[in-house]
Amino acid sequence: MKKCTSLCSQSNSVFRMLIMGSMNPGKIQRDAKVLIVGSGIAGISAALKLNVAGFKNVHILEATGRSGGRIKTGKMGMANWIHGPSEENPVFCLARQYGLLDPEALTPENQAMDVAGHPPWVPNFFTNNATRSLGFSVVSNILKVECCVNGTHSMDAVGLSGLSLYKTLPGLDCTFPKSVSVVEFNECTHTVTYNCPVRCIEWNNTEAQSTVKVECEDGTGMTADHVIVTVSLGYLKKHHSAMFSPPLPLHKLQSIQRQGFGTNNKIYVEFDSPWWDADCEVIYFLWEDEVNIPSSWIKKLFGFTVLKPTER
Ligand SMILES: Cc1cc2nc3c(=O)[nH]c(=O)nc-3n(C[C@H](O)[C@H](O)[C@H](O)COP(=O)(O)OP(=O)(O)OC[C@H]3O[C@@H](n4cnc5c(N)ncnc54)[C@H](O)[C@@H]3O)c2cc1C
Repeated sequence: MKKCTSLCSQSNSVFRMLIMGSMNPGKIQRDAKVLIVGSGIAGISAALKLNVAGFKNVHILEATGRSGGRIKTGKMGMANWIHGPSEENPVFCLARQYGLLDPEALTPENQAMDVAGHPPWVPNFFTNNATRSLGFSVVSNILKVECCVNGTHSMDAVGLSGLSLYKTLPGLDCTFPKSVSVVEFNECTHTVTYNCPVRCIEWNNTEAQSTVKVECEDGTGMTADHVIVTVSLGYLKKHHSAMFSPPLPLHKLQSIQRQGFGTNNKIYVEFDSPWWDADCEVIYFLWEDEVNIPSSWIKKLFGFTVLKPTER
């Protein structure tokens, strides 16, 4: 079976972490109790890092019954790309540590390849005459790819001030050949409490109260020296006022309010046999008469990437 995947727009994959408690690193003791809210890749990474650094009293509170958050193994994948797979990329390092990657992705050549965030895809354009309008449709397609990369459905939502700040890591983008089950990351010594949504975090960092109090939806409470919050931006936007007491500092609130996100859709299409060239990696959709095409979601598809090996 041949498979293609299309990405309409991709959510941002910034690890958001709010660290509540003592802000003085000099005071942080190795026996400090650390609670992590959320067992997605950010929460698990934080727990692993702390474990490696010698913190043994680390515990994760997860709202659902599983780890992984937005990473979930299914017949049709969710998050499957590692962008910039090289030493600086924590997802790459974790996947390498747990033997989840193809040997090709691990080669020094692959990790050193600097593609400035845009994979050197070999495209197939199907056309019989290159016209000026076709040129414009190529530009339009580039903007659709940009929307995908920025995790939005429209260039209107892309903050131009951030364009030059985006840091791309070296390494040729790779996928997980095996299933991306975050359960595999969970064998380290930290523990996770599932089905435990956190309702409120009291983080008064005063002389009188240096610990952080965490209250769960079921009414249970616990204290910690430090709490790391890794819930999604969407959750923070909706719940920050109820979740934090006292409210978060203004600069954090403004970051939460100003950042946005759009729709992220992948469509998988299977064919019995390939009709594209053997070296084709991406099939772009170009609409020469785009303005005249009635409004349709199909126009937002930038194209399909070809999954390899083909039987995957
Ligand atoms: C369809 C799709 C495709 C994607 N493709 C890619 C890709 O190819 N490459 C890539 O790099 N990225 C991709 N991403 C983005 C990537 O999946 C995310 O950036 C990443 O998984 C986010 O991890 P996280 O730990 O920050 O957040 P999440 O995975 O959202 O984890 C947060 C966790 O917090 C828990 N939580 C929420 N509220 C509470 C609460 N009150 N109490 C306790 N726990 C709580 C949630 O249940 C969740 O488990 C994709 C995302 C989607 C949706």
